[in-house]
Amino acid sequence: MSTGFFKVPVAENEPIVNYAPGTIERSRLKQVIKEIWSTEVEIPMIIGGKEVRSGNKIAIKPPHDHKHILGYYHRGDASHVQMAIKAALNAKKAWAELPWENRASVFLRAASLLAGKYRSRINAATMVGQSKNPFQAEIDSACELIDFYRFNVEFMKQIYSQQPQSAPLTWNRLEQRPLEGFVFALTPFNFTSIAGNLPTAPALFGNTVVWKPSNTQIYSARVIMEVLMEAGLPDGVINLVFVSGPVAGKEIFSHPDFAGIHYTGSTEVFRNIWKTIGDNIHLYKSYPRIVGETGGKDFVIAHNSANVEQLATALVRGAFEFQGQKCSAVSRAYIPKSLWPELKNKMAEFLSEIKMGPPEDFRNFFNAVIDEASFDKLAGFIENAKKDKETDVIFGGNHDKSVGYFIEPTVIITRDPQYITMREELFGPVLTMYIYEDEKYEETLEILDKTSDYALTGAVFSKDRYAIELATRKLENAAGNFYINDKPTGAVVGQQPFGGARGSGTNDKAGSVINLLRWVQPRTIKENFRPPVDYKYMFMQEE
Ligand code: NAD
Repeated sequence: MSTGFFKVPVAENEPIVNYAPGTIERSRLKQVIKEIWSTEVEIPMIIGGKEVRSGNKIAIKPPHDHKHILGYYHRGDASHVQMAIKAALNAKKAWAELPWENRASVFLRAASLLAGKYRSRINAATMVGQSKNPFQAEIDSACELIDFYRFNVEFMKQIYSQQPQSAPLTWNRLEQRPLEGFVFALTPFNFTSIAGNLPTAPALFGNTVVWKPSNTQIYSARVIMEVLMEAGLPDGVINLVFVSGPVAGKEIFSHPDFAGIHYTGSTEVFRNIWKTIGDNIHLYKSYPRIVGETGGKDFVIAHNSANVEQLATALVRGAFEFQGQKCSAVSRAYIPKSLWPELKNKMAEFLSEIKMGPPEDFRNFFNAVIDEASFDKLAGFIENAKKDKETDVIFGGNHDKSVGYFIEPTVIITRDPQYITMREELFGPVLTMYIYEDEKYEETLEILDKTSDYALTGAVFSKDRYAIELATRKLENAAGNFYINDKPTGAVVGQQPFGGARGSGTNDKAGSVINLLRWVQPRTIKENFRPPVDYKYMFMQEE
């Protein structure tokens, strides 16, 4: 077999299309959205490369228009999870033994399909299925997913290239094997790119995967699977099942070949998964890799030297883009009293301009939250805040689910820095703000650090270098992604490796070498070119 030491194409971040009026991309995107609205689809599971229909059809509806049916997915049961595990194990040997450049090619080809032919489809599917505006869909389902596929290949080359030293007359080599068994990818609703990255990052390294997406992301999950199949992903390497989380968990976490989980979702689910894996640890052939990126209670703290326009922009974008349903979304802010009147006016100006409605109308910045359960939970917190003596709802606060799950961008002022919405992740367009006395900046940093279980993202706004340094030091463990004079959302693959510690996850930094190292099992090989022939050492000889 001929071979070589191959270089890989240098990864660069995918440029963002702006969808401005009059552009060809805008009219193409609108056309695909129209087609999605007028065609009812049927979405089967994909197991071993085959379409699998259970006959148990569940309707898929846009969050912003829950009477409209986009199509149906086939809900599976335990038998489908077992089929998927079997298919993954059957596909393992051939995929793992395929020279790495072939695996790399599949994902580089997938990236180019997403950047070209599939761009408007994946974006339209995300807009309609998950209620994202065109910009939010573009930076997620097109750009970030393309970046994951391209950068992961470059990181793979770095991982494979890292080799140990060799002493004279020996040769030390490091091999990166895939994990023994299969990997489970369990993905959230909010980012199509995360759904597309979690199964593929392990697969790139020769692992085979069972993938269970969120029920509310199935419409775009199907497009990802089509892209991967068109890119030449062999049958059985990634097996897509539509089952409930607990049904999947029961089959997967009791299987002896379970080798690892690549998870993104809420903290509570992750904690339970970890516990189940711990309880079942004696069942497995190896110690499963547990990689999980979970919730956040992301903050902005402003010093009284901050620029108010920059701060207001960061708060409005950081808290309300994609309806606050980003793990990195600002949901608590600490503002010095002296800046508050001006900041309040600026935020009022911005918020009064924001248009809320369906994403198919491109003038809307703001769309619906994902489903009724999320709507009800958010509405409950808002209604409680309206009644509480410690809080005032100063912007928004209205909600209406008659057509879609619409919650206005809402700002709560609290006089209690430990108020429940300063501590708990709500995962929606609700920002809680605490106004502190200017001279209590350092004390407020300490309160911030101790208020929540999470430590995902956070930002400080200030022109004062001492204030910036103090926040950076005091909040060392309060965020895995920390921003200075920037909003804490919008991490870019290859630029800001993403993830948090404490209750926010294992901090294995998606989109970086750190994450990919979790999907390999290194083997060191030492070869000796002149093996010794006598067991005795020099020190043992007579004086
Ligand atoms: P979720 O926890 O409801 O669901 C995540 C996945 O787990 C889904 O596929 C779901 O079906 C499955 N699941 C739910 N209950 C389960 C159970 N009992 N057993 C097994 N699987 C189960 O999360 P979501 O609402 O889809 O996503 C939002 C959450 O994800 C937020 O908490 C957000 O902060 C987090 N998130 C974190 C990051 C990050 O990088 N840290 C990124 C995106 C989202």
